[in-house]
Formats: sequence, C-alpha cells, structure tokens
Amino acid sequence: MTISILFAAGEARWPQYETPLTTALTAAGITDVRIAREMAPEEVDYIVYAPNPDLQDFTPFVNAKAVLSLWAGVEGIVGNRTLTQPLCRMVDDGLKEGMVEWVTGQVLRHHLGLDAVLARQDGTWRQDVPPLARHRPVGMLGLGELGAACAQALAALNFPVAGWSRSAKDVAGVTCHHGEAGLREVLAGSEIVVLLLPLTAATENVLDAAALALLPKGAVIVNPGRGALIDDAALIAALDAGQVGHATLDVFRTEPLPVDHPFWGHPGVTVSPHVASETRAVTAAEVVAENVRRGEAGEAFLHLVDRGAGY
Ligand code: NAP
Repeated sequence: MTISILFAAGEARWPQYETPLTTALTAAGITDVRIAREMAPEEVDYIVYAPNPDLQDFTPFVNAKAVLSLWAGVEGIVGNRTLTQPLCRMVDDGLKEGMVEWVTGQVLRHHLGLDAVLARQDGTWRQDVPPLARHRPVGMLGLGELGAACAQALAALNFPVAGWSRSAKDVAGVTCHHGEAGLREVLAGSEIVVLLLPLTAATENVLDAAALALLPKGAVIVNPGRGALIDDAALIAALDAGQVGHATLDVFRTEPLPVDHPFWGHPGVTVSPHVASETRAVTAAEVVAENVRRGEAGEAFLHLVDRGAGY
C-alpha cells in the first residue's frame, strides 16, 4: 500500500528536501511512497513538520502514525493538544556538526579576544596575550545531543568544561552537574557559559538576575539554545553593570528580532540571526526515512519527544 507523507515544513524547504527525501526513503526500502505538500488529511501516514502557522490543528489527520519534526527544538508544537500522534524531533549529524563549529568559533572568539584585535587596526601595538584554554573554564547548560558534542569539542581544545543537565550524566572529559546546586556550581565557575537547553516551563528564564549574579564578573554568554532561556531585561542590566562582559545571542523571544529591540544597539551584544546550526536536508532526510521505516515495521521511533518533560 502506498505510504503518504505530507511535507508541512514550509514552501521554502521543499526544493531542498524533495530529492533527498525520495532518495533516503528508497534507500530505506520505502519505494511505494507519495510525498506532497498537500493531500487529504485522512490519507496522511506521516507528517514532516517545521514550525508552520498553517498547520496547528492535527485533529483531521486521523490515520497519521507520527509527526516528524525537522527541528531539534519542539517548544512550538510539544504542547499542542490536538496532536495525539507520537512526535519525533530532529537529531541530525549535520545539525550537530554545524553547532559544534558555531559554538567552538564563538568560544574561541571570546577566549582569544578577537573582537579587540579586529577593532585595533589603527597603528596601536598592544600585546594582550590571551591565556591558554586550560585556564578558561567554560560552562555548558544542556548536555544533550548538541550540548554534549559541543562540550566534548571544547574539552578537546583543553578548556575545562563543566556541564549541567536535568538528569545525572557521564560525558567523557566533562565535569557533569545536575539539579539546582549543580547549576549554581557551573555558573559560579564559568568564564564563558553556553546555553544548549530546550525551552520548557522548567528552563524559561534559567538565566535570570539571580543566576547572572552568580557568574564571575565579566563572564561571556553564548546562547544558541532559545531566547526565552534568558531574561532579556536582566541581561541588559548585567551587561550595563559589567557583570556580564558580552552576550552572543543567536536566538530571541521574538524572531526576527524587532528592529527597536535594545539588543541591536547594545555594544555588549552580538546579534546572530538564528543561524548557529541548520538541519541539513540530506542527513535529516535519512533520519526521517529511518523513522518511516520503523513506523512501517512496527518498531520504536527514534528521538521521541517526552511530551510531559517538553523536549
Ligand atoms: P536534547 O538532546 O534534548 O538535550 C537537552 C539537554 O538539556 C539535555 O541534557 C537535558 O537534560 C537538558 N535539560 C532539559 N531540561 C532541563 C532542566 N530543566 N534542567 C537542566 N537541564 C535540562 O536537545 P539538543 O538536540 O541538544 O538541542 C538543544 C536545543 O538547542 C534545542 O532544544 C533547541 O532549542 C536548540 N537548537 C538551536 C539551534 C540553532 O540554530 N540556534 C539549532 C538546533 C537546536 P537530560 O540530559 O537530563 O535530559
């Protein structure tokens, strides 16, 4: 019987995904398949999804076996009460590699003081020698697919890395913490803090005024996680007071970041337009195809979202 896959991940992505999806499904042994951007809801077996204002009501998809998100972060869909089918999020090698490169680049930029070097092409001969990575402690909030990979890449460069997660973890080369006391310990000991947490009720505003006050004075924040992990007003106050030295932000409460948002003009903020890492069509299509294969074989889906935990 033909398997019907609704591509509900936006018009712009369709040209990137059409061929990789067909190729990956064929490679997974799924050959009798129809993939389209529109089809009768009751015919749909699987929904390939990315945040989509046009698809918020999943009630009509009475025969759908799963919703397969192309995004790792699922805060926009996880609480959708019309969604009764299993929800799988994206775990993709391309996404992971991209995030490791972006986070490593941002940490090295701040560690080496590259902004000051670039700003000083004016005849000034000032030899500010940066410390070695081994003397620059880094905190990683979130030790999941992306956080653990970034933490290990930084540890491989000799940064002492302390990580924080919800449950106790064991990540080689990383000092792992969890719980409230663990968060305080990581923040108090980190000169650079990277956020790779999902946005849930428990993580919203995890960096509030009290948490920011725990950081060593002048610490740098790098946030490719989600905007609402940080209290915007508290961050600006901490930057103005010198408590936070710089914040490189890739994600925001409202995206695109409104032109009148104070982050744009703040000298202590780097605004990056949610480009830290993108799901890559070829590798992501393989993940989608494997989950379709599993669904058809009656096997457990990969990367199922825990709807209660919110990620
Ligand atoms: P993941 O594998 O689900 O990992 C999430 C990590 O956060 C886990 O270590 C988890 O702890 C921890 N966590 C969750 N709730 C927590 C809490 N209340 N307290 C402490 N730790 C908590 O997610 P991922 O694939 O690494 O992705 C992380 C996030 O990155 C996504 O949700 C998304 O928001 C963001 N992202 C951004 C971009 C971008 O381009 N900017 C791209 C992709 C993803 P446990 O290990 O105990 O479960």
